[in-house]
Amino acid sequence: MSPALERDLIERYPKLFADYGAAPDKSAMAFGFECGNGWFDLLDALCAQLSKLKPAGESDDPLPLTALQVKEKYGTLRFYLGACSDEVLALVELAEAMSAGICETCGNRGRTRGMTWLKTLCSSCAREQGYAETETEAP
Ligand SMILES: [Zn+2]
Repeated sequence: MSPALERDLIERYPKLFADYGAAPDKSAMAFGFECGNGWFDLLDALCAQLSKLKPAGESDDPLPLTALQVKEKYGTLRFYLGACSDEVLALVELAEAMSAGICETCGNRGRTRGMTWLKTLCSSCAREQGYAETETEAP
């Protein structure tokens, strides 16, 4: 993800991304957001929802969540938080599932393409990046 967009997420969600820029032996967030700009809005929406969650009980503080790693794997988003509640997991799983329909490069509607190296792209980004339409046609 571009440095400007990464900075945007870190400024909006400083607690969630407290490990951003940590040493690589401390957190995989050392490597930043290992995915394309097209998932910025999806990540922003996920983080906004995560930040609104409150722990059970009286506390008004947000849940103490810290992202361990954010990346693309097998063409879709992975957002690792470590141990977390079912509520948190459901939001993360929703965002990860939605990433299969959003172009990782530009954010338009896309689908997961490729045979060995999977990537979720719209048709025009797929063409630009050499993911031929025929590659993923159903057998
Ligand atoms: Zn695209």
